[in-house]
Amino acid sequence: MYNKVHRRLTLLCAGITAVIMIVMSLCYLYVSERGLYRNQFQSFQNDINTITTNLEQQSVISMEWLSKMEAQGNYLFFVLDNGVPFLYNQLNDSQEASLRKQLLSEALDAFDNLFIYDPSLQAVIPATSYVSFHLEYEFVSSAHGAYYASVIRMGQNASLEIIVLSSLASLERQIQEQRIRFVLIDLAAILLLSVFSWFFTGKLLKPIVENQLKQVQFVASASHELKTPLAVILSAAECCRNADADKQQDFLKIIRQEVRRVSALVNDMLTLSQSDNHYFTISPQPIELDTLLMNSYETFEPLARDKDIALSIHLPREALPACPADPERLSQVIAILLHNAISYTPAHGAIDLSLSYEKNHFLLSVMDNGIGISKEDKKKIFDRFYRAERSRSTKGHFGLGLSIASEIVRAHGGSIAVTDTRGGGSTFTVVL
Ligand code: ADP
Repeated sequence: MYNKVHRRLTLLCAGITAVIMIVMSLCYLYVSERGLYRNQFQSFQNDINTITTNLEQQSVISMEWLSKMEAQGNYLFFVLDNGVPFLYNQLNDSQEASLRKQLLSEALDAFDNLFIYDPSLQAVIPATSYVSFHLEYEFVSSAHGAYYASVIRMGQNASLEIIVLSSLASLERQIQEQRIRFVLIDLAAILLLSVFSWFFTGKLLKPIVENQLKQVQFVASASHELKTPLAVILSAAECCRNADADKQQDFLKIIRQEVRRVSALVNDMLTLSQSDNHYFTISPQPIELDTLLMNSYETFEPLARDKDIALSIHLPREALPACPADPERLSQVIAILLHNAISYTPAHGAIDLSLSYEKNHFLLSVMDNGIGISKEDKKKIFDRFYRAERSRSTKGHFGLGLSIASEIVRAHGGSIAVTDTRGGGSTFTVVL
């Protein structure tokens, strides 16, 4: 299930970013290619302007000048006198001559199609006499690709006609190379994105998966804990049916005891599930912590005495500021800590409940000299249903107390920690 969701999320993440990237690349290519064509056409028009000015100033058009111009700008020149090609166009190389001939006729056809037969464009050709004029346009030769062309007409009745052609092959090659570069860059980026998305979604899913695993463990542990008292209740009820009146009272006592255990466990589980679903609320109000601790001390002192444990309390002499806290919940935390301390401290032991105030923080601690907690267990005792091996047999302990205490302290914005008591035992400290 996890792998499937991970794969799908990766695909979604990488897919969306790849689509955005491809669309952006296409937009960029479109704008950049249009710009390249525009620039090329403008530079062609500029060259034609210069050529026309030069031609106007010359009385004779020499073959050298034409060859020089062709070599300089990668242009093809055709000179027509009253529609008849000049000597310059009569080349010996028959292949080149036929190429030139074909290009010339295609360029002139395109000119006619564009400016002569199209009524909307006829107006661009001046009707009256002129020194010279020129028109630039684009045409595609059937065999030799796209060209920019210019028709320059000079003299009375346009007797001299010069056609200049510029091939777009190198520009198209440049554009082709740019497209290939973009495809390669996009492919590499998509690959990187996929790898990144795999790790990114994995990191995102990790807490969800861990949480789900915790929930599963929680349900399994809860079912396990509920099974034992329920089995005891069932067998006590069975025995109760056939027992005489005296024995029945004993069985009923067992049933009552186990029901109390189950109800305590259910209450604990409800508290934790409320905390998980964020329904767990605290109602902070200014309280006097020393009074709260004193009340807890008075509640637990008889219990400690019963177990032959000396429970003491140390409160600061000076008056403390009021602490914003939920008195019910905070009493629950102290009760959990004191209950644990009494449970895990053997007879003749000592427990000390104390309160201090340092740098705007209240420190509540429960120190015992009991069995202590190993380094390994210290990391786990705040986990749900965790009980150290030595305390497994302790009845009425489900391993939920400290997790409830830490949820309550966290809801108050405080912290809870455990350390070893000097000489043995454990000390739990709550900082608010
Ligand atoms: P439990 O209901 O089992 O006490 P807790 O969550 O309160 O559950 O405590 C978890 C475990 O931490 C206990 O099972 C016990 O092993 C250990 N523990 C807690 N308090 C003490 C203590 N004061 N001394 C020694 N061990 C303790």
